[in-house]
Amino acid sequence: MGWKFTHTFFLFVDGLGWAPAGPDNPVTPAGCPCLSDLLAHHAVPINAGLDWPGIPQSATGQTALWTGTNAAQLVGRHQEGFPGPPLRDLIGKAHIFGRLAELGCRCTFANAYFIDEQRELLEWRRLSVSSVMTLAAFGRVRDKRDLAAGKAVYQDLTRESLVPRGYTGALVTPEESARDALALIAEHDFTLFEYFQTDHAGHGGDRKRAEQALGLLDRFLAVLRPELERPGHRLILTSDHGNIEDLSHSRHTENPVPLITLGESAQELRERIHRIEEVTPAIVELYGAERRRQ
Ligand SMILES: [Zn+2]
Repeated sequence: MGWKFTHTFFLFVDGLGWAPAGPDNPVTPAGCPCLSDLLAHHAVPINAGLDWPGIPQSATGQTALWTGTNAAQLVGRHQEGFPGPPLRDLIGKAHIFGRLAELGCRCTFANAYFIDEQRELLEWRRLSVSSVMTLAAFGRVRDKRDLAAGKAVYQDLTRESLVPRGYTGALVTPEESARDALALIAEHDFTLFEYFQTDHAGHGGDRKRAEQALGLLDRFLAVLRPELERPGHRLILTSDHGNIEDLSHSRHTENPVPLITLGESAQELRERIHRIEEVTPAIVELYGAERRRQ
């Protein structure tokens, strides 16, 4: 059934908070011009605290982001890293891919996993929120074959971190990764990609590494931006908690996170979303409205 929807690219950037310019903030117009421009003209800060005391963490933040449920209240804390059974249960029932699929949207997770066979994932002790929901939605993730065919994007945008793991294919530029992403965006209504080098660099507290992670992301974004500003497209970029924007320490921050939106209904999304748990309901409602108009 051929419903026609806006092509959304949801770029999840782990550990990117919203903070003023300053000596400990590596997000600068010189180092990441495209991201800085988007932050200055197409973004609002949204709350990532989930109304729970303490420092926001990835498992609860990402679950809130992609289910619309306050995951910290559900488990009674901010949970780090990877979701445990209660969060996995929630993700399996309420993930954004499933809610959009019910409306007839074609969804995908663009990230490549460096595996030959899907069963290798079962041996991984820890699965991220995005992995859990991708398996729940599609029963598989994009693998080595997809990567070789340009049908997936590796999380570091260059594949360099795969070399020590035995990758012998070509390295790519962030611009080439963006073109692979654009091909997936064209084939789907909702494409998610997860970039977490920002969070790793924030934990490292190393300025050079942080600038490198932001620089690669910026080159990726610079290719995507004009394409996603075309009619029938949109970009949504947000995060689960702050980290890299304050290199004075190596922990997450309590800063708000940016919500960058471009393209169709960009302004409406920025007006409606004030907290990370409002992101998924707002997107689902937009697609529901598009569906009702057909
Ligand atoms: Zn995180």
